[in-house]
Amino acid sequence: MPEPLPPLREIIARYGIRARRQLGQHFLLDLNLCRRIVRAAGDLAGKTVVEIGPGPGGLTRALLETEAARVIAVERDPRCIDALSDLSRRYANRFDVVAGDALDFDISALAGTGRVAVVANLPYNVATPLLIGWLRNVDSISAMTLMFQKEVAERIVAAPGTGAYGRLTVVAQWLCEARRAFDVAPTAFVPPPRVTSTVVNLLPRGAPLAPADMACLEAVTAAAFGRRRKMLRSALASLVDDPEALLEQAGIAATARAETLPPEAFCALARGLARIRAPR
Ligand code: SAM
Repeated sequence: MPEPLPPLREIIARYGIRARRQLGQHFLLDLNLCRRIVRAAGDLAGKTVVEIGPGPGGLTRALLETEAARVIAVERDPRCIDALSDLSRRYANRFDVVAGDALDFDISALAGTGRVAVVANLPYNVATPLLIGWLRNVDSISAMTLMFQKEVAERIVAAPGTGAYGRLTVVAQWLCEARRAFDVAPTAFVPPPRVTSTVVNLLPRGAPLAPADMACLEAVTAAAFGRRRKMLRSALASLVDDPEALLEQAGIAATARAETLPPEAFCALARGLARIRAPR
């Protein structure tokens, strides 16, 4: 039997990891909770798993306890990278630490390993841009199990007609089935954040809900939800010269409001926008 790993509190003290707010550092020290998050990710056997922001390595330990073929952890804090050295030694043949900014980490470059699973307690300040980046490369991903602040999680899983329904909902649900797994109270973290957190599962669909170009979909949702209380004929005026024609060819009432439309309707608008933007 290998020696038990030192408790996470000891790792944090040994490597002097005082939490830095600008790095979104709120650590999970309860290994049972880390295991629960990993269980929410389903069967990881034989998979390559990418973890963003391993910190002192609680969730990382739970991932390495599974039969994942490989765990790749991307971390930008050198103190945390040093703190992972025990794990690197113990799991030398299946654990890699990538030092750097996760926003620069190209998940599609791992394509040789098959689709990867992404599992992370995300740094909240970059959680949304990270998710958008993964959605752009969704063909490289088998599943994502991600902890967000609750308010962002609610936007991801929202239904049309609700206040949380917006740009992020449409783009995420266009490409993935999104499901809330469970909430985690602030007291579970060291130091505790101000808000509740939520673990979300995002399962890439076999095919997107409807055909659309992602850049055009992002453009129509930005314009439509940028003025969400307005009728679409007025909200889309910032985007195209003739919003009523765009809405009509998409089969959408000019007087409708963004939050009432299902994702497929935004895809129809994105296709119309693509036609307008296409060189003649
Ligand atoms: N996974 C650990 C846990 O659950 O205890 C730590 C999670 S903590 C919420 C976020 C982690 O992301 C921190 O370790 C932080 O240093 C790291 N981080 C913050 N911004 C990052 C970025 N842009 N790229 C990579 N890691 C980042």
